[in-house]
This record gives sequence, C-alpha cells and structure tokens, in this order.
Amino acid sequence: MAKYSSKINKIRTFALSLIFIGFIVMYVGIYFRTSPLIMTIFMILGLLFVIASTVVYFWIGMLSTKTIQVKCPNCGKPTKMLGRVDMCMHCREPLTLDQNLVGKEFDEKYNKKSYNK
Ligand SMILES: [Zn+2]
Repeated sequence: MAKYSSKINKIRTFALSLIFIGFIVMYVGIYFRTSPLIMTIFMILGLLFVIASTVVYFWIGMLSTKTIQVKCPNCGKPTKMLGRVDMCMHCREPLTLDQNLVGKEFDEKYNKKSYNK
C-alpha cells in the first residue's frame, strides 16, 4: 500500500521538489560569481525550475476544481479524490466512486481510460 499516495499529494510533492531543485541550481550559480556568464546561466536555469513549479501549482489548482470532496469512511476526515479511485490524504485509505470496484484491491489502473469494464 505504501507505494500509492493521493494523486494531488504526489503532484504537490513534485512541485515542491522543483522549487528545491531551482534553488539548488541558483545556489550553485553563486559559486561561479567570478564568471558572470556561467552565473547568469545557472540563475536562469534555477528560475526556469521555479517557474515550472509555479505552473505545476497552477495545474494542481485546476485539478482541484475537478476533485470530489468526500468524507473518508476510515478516519472520518474530509478528503479530495481525483478519478475513479484515489486515496485518502490523511490515512491512505483507498477510496472509490465506482460501486463495482468496492472491495476490490486498490489499483491505479482503474483510472486509465483503456480500462473500461
Ligand atoms: Zn482517511
């Protein structure tokens, strides 16, 4: 179970890591301050990562409008789910909107369009 996590959380982690990469790249650029050209390249690269992360955060915002707020049956907290199957953000309880999938083992393949049974 541990290898799955809520999709929104996954994307959020990705966006956060992009910011970190951006700052690391910019930080490396400071070491090259004797060479303005290399430093500028690193700064621009770092900035691109930060911009990319902003785009991902914006994407999360867009996705959030498509999520369905449900109350987790396991921990009772409200959580957001995306697609047919997702996972509780608080306790990792697998959730599904499809009654046919209730009780089945959690599998992300149910979200793929090709899987339509
Ligand atoms: Zn829960």
